[in-house]
Amino acid sequence: MLILLVFLLIGVAAYFTWRSRNSTVTRQCRWRADRSVAADYYHCLACGGQMRTGTDRAPRVCMARASG
Ligand SMILES: [Zn+2]
Repeated sequence: MLILLVFLLIGVAAYFTWRSRNSTVTRQCRWRADRSVAADYYHCLACGGQMRTGTDRAPRVCMARASG
C-alpha cells in the first residue's frame, strides 16, 4: 500500500513539473480581456503586457518574463 502512495507522489510531482514547463504564466500574471479594444485583445494587470491572441482565450505567456 505504501508503494502506491510513493508512486502517487511521484506522479503529482511530475505533473506540476510538466505544467510549469509548458506555461510561463506566473501567479502574478492576470490577463484581462478588453472587448472595447478588440475581441481578442488582452492586457495583463500585473506586468502591463498587451497581446492580441487571435482567439477568445487568454494568453499563456507573461510579457514581463518574455522581455526578461
Ligand atoms: Zn503578466
